[in-house]
Amino acid sequence: MRYFPLFADLHGRRVLVVGGGVVAERKARLLLQAGARVAVVAPQLTGWLSERAGSPEPGASPTLAGEAGPAPGADTMTWVADRFDESCLDGAILVVAATDDDGVNARVAAAARARNVLVNVVDSAEESSFIVPAVVDRSPLVIAISSGGVAPVLARHLRERIESIVDESFGALATLLARWRQRIKAALPVVADRRRFYERVLRGPVAARLRSRQPGQAEAELARELRQGEERPRGSVALVGAGPGDPGLLTLNALRALQQADVILHDRLVSGEVLGLARRDAELLCVGKAAGEHSVAQERIHELLVEHARAGRQVVRLKGGDPFIFGRGGEELEFLRRHGIPYEVVPGITAAVACGAYAGIPLTHRHHAQSVRLVTAHCSESIDALDWAALAQERQTVALYMGVAGLGTIRARLLAHGRAPRTPVAIVESASRPEQRVTLTSLDELGAGAGSGDIRSPALVIVGEVAALAGQLHWFGAPPRTASALKLAAA
Ligand code: SAH
Repeated sequence: MRYFPLFADLHGRRVLVVGGGVVAERKARLLLQAGARVAVVAPQLTGWLSERAGSPEPGASPTLAGEAGPAPGADTMTWVADRFDESCLDGAILVVAATDDDGVNARVAAAARARNVLVNVVDSAEESSFIVPAVVDRSPLVIAISSGGVAPVLARHLRERIESIVDESFGALATLLARWRQRIKAALPVVADRRRFYERVLRGPVAARLRSRQPGQAEAELARELRQGEERPRGSVALVGAGPGDPGLLTLNALRALQQADVILHDRLVSGEVLGLARRDAELLCVGKAAGEHSVAQERIHELLVEHARAGRQVVRLKGGDPFIFGRGGEELEFLRRHGIPYEVVPGITAAVACGAYAGIPLTHRHHAQSVRLVTAHCSESIDALDWAALAQERQTVALYMGVAGLGTIRARLLAHGRAPRTPVAIVESASRPEQRVTLTSLDELGAGAGSGDIRSPALVIVGEVAALAGQLHWFGAPPRTASALKLAAA
């Protein structure tokens, strides 16, 4: 190990920053956050620095000016001199050389070393006696990553990945556990028991409540966990939107839920790539739903959710797109609530939004569409229930979920209610997936014209003037197939 990692307490300690540019500013900000008294040496300061540091006192000794700053704990920064000399180091515990002049940096480094003061020369690990790691700050939890100065980009990359797993609520969790530490120790004197307890708390409802910004409930859950001990661990359910297929479209919360799950009940729509992100030993259960096929009944899904949660598992109910858009997520939550199972909801990118984005179809557009409607048309019952007169109005976009089987009916109803026959229509299959395909046609050709017979599920039908924009704005996969009617209209 080339460097010894440590966390230093800089509260009220004098730290010298040599340099007044943006790099120096960045370092000064961090140092101030850590409570240091920052003394700046530079001929000129950035706006931010000079706002906080005032102006150097003429004739005053640099060190004295430094000590005369406001009391520790406040925003304590002082501009002590415009030029570095050795006396600037008086009383400093650390030094950061952040000028763009290598000569000055080298002088600072040499002077600091001669006095045994730790020095960091920005971007020069060789001249530095300490280096600053990339940091994930979830105070009091802080994660520091270092590549020893040899691969800072790699370290930053790693930090981003860790940031995505360790969300903001970890800070609150650490604080809560610190407050309860003595009580937990008293209730569970055996170390192994304690460890198991903490494991459960980290993956269970306590952490989930903190993520839901319910600190009071989190504390109540913690007390309950502690009372119940090992007997009956409490499970919970995360209702998670898996988006349209591309795993890059998952939210960070969805990723976290997948990585903590004991069991995942997923729809058929959920892509293999997304499932591949689940925790290795999570149990995967496919519970449904491909059009026309027999699948696990909704009631049975409700029961499974409750059974697994009652057995103390962290359950993820994973649905394509967003769980609250034609996903029966509402019914599932009603059932969970009736049975007292804690839950959280992680939204996903719904098909209409994904299809629009990946086909180059802005669902609203200042010139073409002032509103967008999401409707489902999966059986004659749902088709009859729709307000076709409203859907047929101009200057709006209609996104039809599960509508592929009913293309002919959709066409007939919209035409009957007066939507223009030339209204552009896009059929987007498998949005965001490698097999994505977009077919452009017009309302009067829908279900009859070219390319309508071979539509593969899942597919979304987008009706409205904006659909034609896919012709110019497409960017993902193959360009749209264009049916003859549209070509004529464009001619
Ligand atoms: N909850 C889901 C919708 C479930 S209904 C969501 O928010 O997206 C299933 C319908 O969604 C499919 O019949 C299809 O119309 C649409 N759909 C889902 N994923 C799709 C995708 N990747 N590409 C196109 N349409 C999709």
